[in-house]
Amino acid sequence: MDTQVLIVGAGPVGLTLAIALGRRGVRCILIEQKPAPAKLPKMERCNARTMEIYRRMGIVEKVRAVGLPAHCPMDVFIVTSLIEPPLLHLPYPSVAEARAQIAAKNDGSLPLEPYQLISQYTLEPLLKAIAETLPAVTVRYGCTFVSFAEGSDAVTAEVENADGTLARIAARYLVGCDGGGSAVRRQLGIKLAGEANIMQFRQALIRCDDLYARISIGKGRHYHVADGKATFLIVQDDTRHFTLHASVENDAEMAAMFERTVAMPVDYQMLYVGEWKQNLLLAERYGAGRVFLAGDAVHLMIPTGGLGMNSGVGDAVDLAWKLAAVLEGWGGPGLLAAYEIERRQVGERNVAASGFAARGRRAWRAEYRPCIRDNTPEGAAARAHLARVADREQRKSNEMIGAELGYRYVGSPIIWPEPGEGPPHAFIDYRPTTWPGARLPHVWLKDGSALHDRLGEGYTLLRLNGARADTGALERALRATGAPLDVLDIDDAVARDVCGRDLLLLRPDLHVAWRGNRAPEEPERLAAIVTGRIL
Ligand SMILES: Cc1cc2nc3c(=O)[nH]c(=O)nc-3n(C[C@H](O)[C@H](O)[C@H](O)COP(=O)(O)OP(=O)(O)OC[C@H]3O[C@@H](n4cnc5c(N)ncnc54)[C@H](O)[C@@H]3O)c2cc1C
Repeated sequence: MDTQVLIVGAGPVGLTLAIALGRRGVRCILIEQKPAPAKLPKMERCNARTMEIYRRMGIVEKVRAVGLPAHCPMDVFIVTSLIEPPLLHLPYPSVAEARAQIAAKNDGSLPLEPYQLISQYTLEPLLKAIAETLPAVTVRYGCTFVSFAEGSDAVTAEVENADGTLARIAARYLVGCDGGGSAVRRQLGIKLAGEANIMQFRQALIRCDDLYARISIGKGRHYHVADGKATFLIVQDDTRHFTLHASVENDAEMAAMFERTVAMPVDYQMLYVGEWKQNLLLAERYGAGRVFLAGDAVHLMIPTGGLGMNSGVGDAVDLAWKLAAVLEGWGGPGLLAAYEIERRQVGERNVAASGFAARGRRAWRAEYRPCIRDNTPEGAAARAHLARVADREQRKSNEMIGAELGYRYVGSPIIWPEPGEGPPHAFIDYRPTTWPGARLPHVWLKDGSALHDRLGEGYTLLRLNGARADTGALERALRATGAPLDVLDIDDAVARDVCGRDLLLLRPDLHVAWRGNRAPEEPERLAAIVTGRIL
């Protein structure tokens, strides 16, 4: 066996998976067809949940260090150009401001970490460098996955090296993180269902060193142009690069569109122009046998709302602890079976959330009128009307904290089934809950530390409010499975209030597996369920 896990694709998802596995000491080989990370424009915002995950992985400050500086506003504007008064200005806190808000509030409603603007072409080389420091991880660029064959205890992949030679890599598990065109998914015969090729855009990556400093209408990250061409200028992490999206006929028109949007003389370089398509697609399955799929290989979303990569990071960390548990010998077969059940429903909800956000954007764009820039009463009315509609509809893209933090694994076989419906899923509103399956809300403890930071890499039995219950039977049952377990006593009224129960059993990914005010009546059954020993 060459390795324990073979990961195909070093996009943000494959790289995050490699780091998450490597930190747990799982040996993995990550192969990537490109010779090196490319400077191509794609995502630019890690959401709050991804940053919480990166905090647990110990890399959050590294990500922030190369991302947009903490003081830069994250505002969103709807404009006719960068020199005319904005039609709409939606202010959003900079990372520094968001951190101050998080520090000042302690009711579980905010994430532990704010979002971070970081361009995908900055994030990928950083994650690659981090992965390469982990002894358990081997990263091979210039190595293309060709096909695989599955045996009873291994998967053997055929790969093609940069010099055209073919080689085989045998692994216990194979994970396809190879993006929307996933060759791994195609070999499994798994189809994507939903809406493909909804709209087509051109995207340009532009270097323009002094533009950001010269924007006098207000600093932000997104400038949507009300122009009937869906033109959209995005500030990248160093504030010297910009991406421009527009619905135009050819590449050459992108330069004219940029000049029209900035409307001031600037020196600039077009580094890249390409086409991309909007899709809302979900894979029918998230893998088969010893082969799993994650990220864009299983869900393709419209970037509106920024849920694409962020959903994939969630897939990666979920799969990582389950694979590690099985490879370490304490995870039962139900753990890996639960990957698809838990993550596919998140993929489905996030594809829907991205459709909801995209429809909102289309709704205000539909209010564009050719007279919108005219200095006439009709022009003023068109601007005011579009701004009114956008003030409602554009927010859908930027305020989906419910989708980001509020996802909960429903009907999972490795979560104790609490009777009842559970709180509703909402895209916009996030209401903290410890309903089994939910992410543990963030709470500051009396000593100033964050509850999340007190939780280890395995399961945690959290005993709040003086821990009056005798949890010995549950501890013994869990330890008998070989699963790593910490018992944590926290005497903190706010934490008890936010968590809503005296006892919580938390999984390695900080999702609630069980909760109660008394020790569980069937501790062996609970331990078997959460470690995947009951199919
Ligand atoms: C314009 C735009 C803006 C976006 N903005 C955001 C945003 O703000 N937030 C967000 O969360 N998402 C955003 N997204 C989506 C985000 O970019 C994707 O969801 C993300 O890249 C998916 O990551 P991934 O690792 O799953 O796949 P990919 O990034 O597609 O990576 C797959 C990797 O696999 C490699 N590969 C493919 N086939 C093989 C093979 N046979 N062998 C070896 N390697 C292979 C590829 O070269 C590639 O490096 C945006 C997308 C676009 C187009």
